[in-house]
Amino acid sequence: MVTLITISATLLLVMGVFYRHYEMQITSDLKIVAHILQENMDLQTGYLPEDESLRVTLIDPDGIVLFDSISKAEEMDNHANRIEVQEAMLHGIGEAKRHSDSINQSNYYVALKLDDGKILRVARTTNSLTNIFVQAMPVVLLLCLLELIGLIIVSRFLTKSIIHPIEEVADQLDDIDETQVYPELKPFVNTIRIWHEKVMNSAKLRQDFTANVTHELKTPLTSISGYSELIESGIASEEDVVHFAHEIHRSAQRLLITINDILRLSELDSDGEELFEKLDLYEVAAGCVDSLKMQAQKYDVKVMLSGSKSIVKANREMMVELCSNFIDNAIRYNHPQGSVWVNVSTLQDEVRLSVKDTGIGIPLSQQQRIFERFYRVDKSRSKATGGTGLGLAIVKHIVMKHHAAIEVISEQDRGCEMIVHFNKPQ
Ligand code: ADP
Repeated sequence: MVTLITISATLLLVMGVFYRHYEMQITSDLKIVAHILQENMDLQTGYLPEDESLRVTLIDPDGIVLFDSISKAEEMDNHANRIEVQEAMLHGIGEAKRHSDSINQSNYYVALKLDDGKILRVARTTNSLTNIFVQAMPVVLLLCLLELIGLIIVSRFLTKSIIHPIEEVADQLDDIDETQVYPELKPFVNTIRIWHEKVMNSAKLRQDFTANVTHELKTPLTSISGYSELIESGIASEEDVVHFAHEIHRSAQRLLITINDILRLSELDSDGEELFEKLDLYEVAAGCVDSLKMQAQKYDVKVMLSGSKSIVKANREMMVELCSNFIDNAIRYNHPQGSVWVNVSTLQDEVRLSVKDTGIGIPLSQQQRIFERFYRVDKSRSKATGGTGLGLAIVKHIVMKHHAAIEVISEQDRGCEMIVHFNKPQ
């Protein structure tokens, strides 16, 4: 369609310009002929041009036709009212163009006033623009057809070369890096690659998480099932029954804690509307230290709190979870008679929470992984102390929701310090 429109528009324009030029050329030719005849007096009444489209007329100053190269002069009407004749009378030279609809032709006239007052008129008949156009039509149509065929072939080839790499990318999403694409497609392929990696990663994470959850739930359930089976069979002594019941209780407790943490994680995953308020983080930390007093005594660890009132914009429940998790870990992964220092302070451009301990520490290579779900450095200690491996994953979510940053400073066997940098509220 575009090609057809372009060809037609170009054709019309070119023909218009060409025809205008053609008309000017005819008039200028007629003027030359008129001047030649003016110089040759005897040709004026006897010139019969071979070319039938050229016509010579000699007109009396009264408009009476004296001679005409085509018609008989005496049969012709008075020419005094013809524009070119009137113009020649006034200015010495005149020109005109008249169109004849019946034969679809145009007549061009040039009239010259001779020295004796007579008018010499030369005329030429040519095809009109529409006539020329109609004559050119078959060639134009043929050209259009050829162009159309050429276009179909070229556009098929182009479309293929544009679409083929896209199809290849779609077919080989896993080897997207190796797919050869043209430069214009690269940003698109890069975006697809990044999204594909994200989707694959999240699918893998989900798969790992499901496998981990199943494993975490299976262990206590197997022990519950085993001990209850022993009680059921009646072979256990009364003393054993008490012990088995205790184990069942412990495993059930473990199950509950794990399920609670999983639920909490999925709650944090969904974009719920939490209430954010301005609160004193020091006060929250003090509350957590207080409620973990018994736990600290159990592990023979001293917990010290320092700092001052520090206001952050946060969700209170999440801040309690965050502080408790850090302090609880600092106690559980500590040595007997170890210490935990909790500090909350407002610095120049941040509010800082630090929980530092004298415990077993975390090797540098594993410091980033501890925030993954179910990742434990010290597996046996974690399980023995009731850890689910989800505490720091929950902490990471909370930190992200508060647009805060987390920092781990630790070395194996040399204690650990967890620092959270909060933005100061506006
Ligand atoms: P858990 O419930 O097992 O404590 P967390 O998600 O709270 O799980 O922590 C992940 C792992 O990071 C723990 O299993 C532990 O190995 C390590 N860890 C966390 N806090 C400390 C700490 N203060 N000192 C040493 N290791 C720690």
